[in-house]
Amino acid sequence: MQQGDGNLRVGVLGVQGSVKEHMDKLKLIKGIEAVEAKDRDTILTLDALIIPGGESTAIGKILVDFGLKDAILKLNERKVPIWGTCAGMILMAKHIVNDERIHLGIMDITVRRNAYGSQIDSFKTRLMIPAVSENEIEAVFIRAPYIESVGDGVRILAKYEGKIVAAQQDNLLATSFHPELTDDLSFYRYFLRL
Ligand code: GLN
Repeated sequence: MQQGDGNLRVGVLGVQGSVKEHMDKLKLIKGIEAVEAKDRDTILTLDALIIPGGESTAIGKILVDFGLKDAILKLNERKVPIWGTCAGMILMAKHIVNDERIHLGIMDITVRRNAYGSQIDSFKTRLMIPAVSENEIEAVFIRAPYIESVGDGVRILAKYEGKIVAAQQDNLLATSFHPELTDDLSFYRYFLRL
């Protein structure tokens, strides 16, 4: 679905976390109108949505309190592309091994929160992800989750030390790491092709 000016309206859920960083990246891509989406009416107008990293428990609570959860579920019913980075991945997961709170529960993945330890265990690495880029991609992990297992229909895009750190299911994309904190736009381009 495109708006009148022909631009794709790509939203960043503007609740908490690395919202500005994602917005700055989107503004570098031609043919995109970057929208900070903070309310349900705005969410419902989007052609694609990014759920940024931050704190999944805080974002998850706000989603419910402000009626944003239903709007995101509607987007998903319409098969609008949704990409969760880090906390965003946790919010999309149907199963979380070390937390009983399930938030959106839309993607058939089982995640482990804070799987790499605490804030000081954050790190950077380079990953080869053939579906996304022919070059290595820099990946920044900040108190990141990984995916322990995936359901049928989920495509594993990347692993790091044997653990799944990027996956896709139809219109849904999830990454453990933060492409908004690097100079590489290839994950954005991959997402916008979904
Ligand atoms: N540890 C956070 C959580 O569990 C996610 C961290 C991040 O998004 N950088 O929600």
